Amino acid sequence: MTRPLVVQKFGGTSVGTVERIQEVARRVAEGAQASRLIVVVSAMSGETDRLLKLARALSPDPLPRESDVVVASGEQVTSALLSIALDARGVPAQSFLGHQICIHTDDAHTKARIRSIDSARMFAALDAGKVVVVAGFQGVDGNGNITTLGRGGSDTTAVALAAATGADACEIYTDVDGVYTTDPRIVSHAHKLERISYDEMLELASLGAKVLQIRSVEFAKRYNVRVHVRSSFNDEPGTWVVPEESNMEEVTVAGVAFDRDQSKITLTDVPDRPGLAARIFSPIAAKGIVVDMIIQNTGAAGKTDMTFTVPRVELDAALRIVRDVAREIGAGDARSEGDITKVSVVGLGMRSHAGVAAQIFETLAREGINIQMISTSEIKVSVVIDAKYTELAVRVLHDAFLGAKETNG
Ligand code: ADP
Ligand code: ASP
Ligand code: MG
Repeated sequence: MTRPLVVQKFGGTSVGTVERIQEVARRVAEGAQASRLIVVVSAMSGETDRLLKLARALSPDPLPRESDVVVASGEQVTSALLSIALDARGVPAQSFLGHQICIHTDDAHTKARIRSIDSARMFAALDAGKVVVVAGFQGVDGNGNITTLGRGGSDTTAVALAAATGADACEIYTDVDGVYTTDPRIVSHAHKLERISYDEMLELASLGAKVLQIRSVEFAKRYNVRVHVRSSFNDEPGTWVVPEESNMEEVTVAGVAFDRDQSKITLTDVPDRPGLAARIFSPIAAKGIVVDMIIQNTGAAGKTDMTFTVPRVELDAALRIVRDVAREIGAGDARSEGDITKVSVVGLGMRSHAGVAAQIFETLAREGINIQMISTSEIKVSVVIDAKYTELAVRVLHDAFLGAKETNG
């Protein structure tokens, strides 16, 4: 009988020092007794930031192609170091970079999407009795250029490899014990969820919970990969990310997420005519910038104001575009104002429980926190607030819906 095939991914903190790499090697060696293993590693913690800083020290706007070559080196180092550590324990292992196992992506440098993976070389190494160690976060485009998958992209490498190889399990080892009701670094009494549905995890990830990269959850949902998020420092069971189960809607709210990486742009005195929203947002979309929340205030004298959010890293690019359009259409000034945070409450049960939005507004009002923007979907409510209230808002919303007691599993 063939042994089960398991993909394990170790994040930056888990491989952050030589000692931690040795600890990962110990764990992998143990796992390799029962399973065939594909191990995906991130760069050592802080390394990707350090590399990006080097590139930015030389140019405010580094060439995306070259930037990817620079940052991909972080995972190259850890993949080989882990293979060396495994070999030193007598466990045969071989490292592979993205291109060596044909992780083909599109050419969107710094945020590339995986198109296909050829598993043949990995299976050959597994059949030869080796642990396959893969550098996460990286791929190769159609022209042979190195690409990277966006921050947190090693999660996506792991789930994509699990999908491509038909692995029996995908384990994401990180520096927390699982997925919590909110970031345990902000709310210390947040509790660990035993299970969470793909859709809830998709919302939490897209709304700022960095524990899994959103694209890894998209892959997991599409290919039905069950993902186990757990600690690399202990053997406790973590959180299973799974298809929706019939009783999941009984819990109204699964978690609270926040995103500090958004900025708000306001464009004043936009002529109130059909077609102008398209004139403003089409060129922003054409640059690949994702606009999230949009508010249009009907103003006086045929003019309106428009306010919307964009990722902070793309604020300057978005402002340039909006100012150009503003001149063409005779609108007023475009400016970015204030430090904002988007705080979101997520749960499948919102489909069937009314009043969640009202309770959110009341909870924030009690603390005197002003809501600047609101958006809702079937299973989430998001509000934009002043960044200085982030911790307070996350805590009071968490306590209003999730308290300190067990709510799931
Ligand atoms: P890794 O380097 O292992 O990929 P990350 O830093 O990317 O780890 O993700 C883990 C971090 O995600 C945790 O340290 C925690 O602060 C943060 N986090 C945010 N929201 C949540 C949540 N709901 N549950 C667990 N962790 C969360
Ligand atoms: N090293 C990359 C990052 O810091 C990818 C990852 O860790 O998943 O974003
Ligand atoms: Mg991560």
